[in-house]
Amino acid sequence: MGCKKIRLAGIAYESLVNGPGMRRVFFAQGCRHNCKGCFNPSTHDFKGGQLKDIDKLVCDIKDNPMVSGVTFSGGDPFEQPEEFAYMADKIKELNLNIWCYTGYTFESIVNGSDMAKKCLLNNVDVLVDGKFEENKKDTKLKFKGSSNQRIIDVKKSLDSNDVIVLTFS
Ligand code: SF4
Repeated sequence: MGCKKIRLAGIAYESLVNGPGMRRVFFAQGCRHNCKGCFNPSTHDFKGGQLKDIDKLVCDIKDNPMVSGVTFSGGDPFEQPEEFAYMADKIKELNLNIWCYTGYTFESIVNGSDMAKKCLLNNVDVLVDGKFEENKKDTKLKFKGSSNQRIIDVKKSLDSNDVIVLTFS
């Protein structure tokens, strides 16, 4: 059986800007949202980037004890839901919290019929949702690009059937 692979645009090994603390960030390759003013159009092509072995990526996280969490960014991780859900499962065994950025909204995932996307949502702790909207861009916002995006506590939101938003300043 072959190793499980994921298509990535890149990795940030010690990021301080993609969630709290020092984080390992995996940038998914592939995005269909086409947000005007997208900060990284080279991540859109579904055939671009590089295929990486998921187990090896997770193993590499252990090599740096300074890393306190993991972030999935993009591109859009929700275009590879099975692969990122598998990765999230493995990362949880390391007791690290997981943030995930997506151009989809929380409601569209919860109310949609795509079971793989729901599974990925269930496997992350925090979802930063929604497309980047250039007219709502605000460089003062922490951990997000435009004011329509929300930093959502996934478990609390699913438990309470409401959207519980976290604030950072
Ligand atoms: S979701 Fe992100 S990567 Fe995709 S088009 Fe929008 S800003 Fe760009």
